[in-house]
Amino acid sequence: MPTTLQPSQKRRLIPLVSDTESQPTAAMRIAIANAEVGDEQRGEDPTVNRLQDRVAELLGKEAALWFPGGTMCNFVAVKVHTRPADGVIADWMAHIIRAESAGVALSSGVLVEPIVTERGIFTPVDAQNALNRLATVSPPYGPPPRLICVEQTHNFAGGAVWSLDELTAIADFAKEKRLAVHMDGARLLNACVATGVSATSFASQVDSVWIDFTKGLGAPIGAVLAGTKGFIAEARRYKHVFAGAMRQAGIAAAGCLHALNHHVERLAEDHLNASRLAEGLTQIEGIDVMTPNPETNMVYFDPSGLGISQDVFLQDLEGLGVRMGKVRGAIRAVTHLDVTSSDIEATLNAVKAISAKREARRSPGSCAH
Ligand SMILES: *Cc1c(COP(=O)(O)O)cnc(C)c1O
Repeated sequence: MPTTLQPSQKRRLIPLVSDTESQPTAAMRIAIANAEVGDEQRGEDPTVNRLQDRVAELLGKEAALWFPGGTMCNFVAVKVHTRPADGVIADWMAHIIRAESAGVALSSGVLVEPIVTERGIFTPVDAQNALNRLATVSPPYGPPPRLICVEQTHNFAGGAVWSLDELTAIADFAKEKRLAVHMDGARLLNACVATGVSATSFASQVDSVWIDFTKGLGAPIGAVLAGTKGFIAEARRYKHVFAGAMRQAGIAAAGCLHALNHHVERLAEDHLNASRLAEGLTQIEGIDVMTPNPETNMVYFDPSGLGISQDVFLQDLEGLGVRMGKVRGAIRAVTHLDVTSSDIEATLNAVKAISAKREARRSPGSCAH
């Protein structure tokens, strides 16, 4: 095999910063190398078209559309659902509010009314209260509400899952209020694997939904948005407006098809690894685990009880061969296909070593050094 297909040989750090860090597997690289390609912008890339059909079927929607990434799926979906100066409601820690650099403000000119929740999941009562806030003073003072956004799984709420019942309640509320529902389903398949509920069942409750291939699915590029034929036709127009139309994109879509065939069921391993990590961290002195029972593949915790800052903790950890990140004022560890169960044990040993070193410093009578 040519050396260009070999992964790099530099010192390996256990990659827990994000599930976006996973490297394409050797088998995925072969699928990518052998992709049949055409002009995606003209709708003529056979691999992209096959992927779109697969995702439409997986999500039980009429049509689906390839995108370079998930952020653009959100920009475009919100654009299609709304008109400038409409009202949108979403959880206060939603990715569209916190991590897209105000993209929906730029793409769609909407006002997003945040709903404060504990774990990213809101109820019809919460949604009604948000509508009431938007309509504090009657129109034309308050913006007309148009769209509800939900996130499955909820990233900044620790990978929390909307149950089918919770989602159905919001969908019914939206119908009654004549609002559309958009699902940021970056990790929808994690929710499916965690609950046993099918992607079609979750997706049937919403008007538009996309899945990301660069998170737990482990592909290097790509996300696919699904909805009605009319919705997708409009989405295609705005994808072009935002310069998201590509040429021989099948080279990337082949990695996504490979991921659908090989990397979905294995998400259960990531969830097990996250649970094991949370359980082990709970037993370490000075670590406060905010997600003691992770619902999917994320663990959030605070190491402040060790008497060191989060930055120093992260530096110490990296010195011991493990990388994690800082999100929402906490340390976040995300499991994925490049993190094995022995990596989890090694990570716990590294955190124990940091804890023991701090303990030794704090108890002057101890003979530890
Ligand atoms: C990663 C992520 C996105 C953005 O997807 P990209 O493919 O990185 O653009 C959107 N929403 C959520 C919840 C995410 O985790």
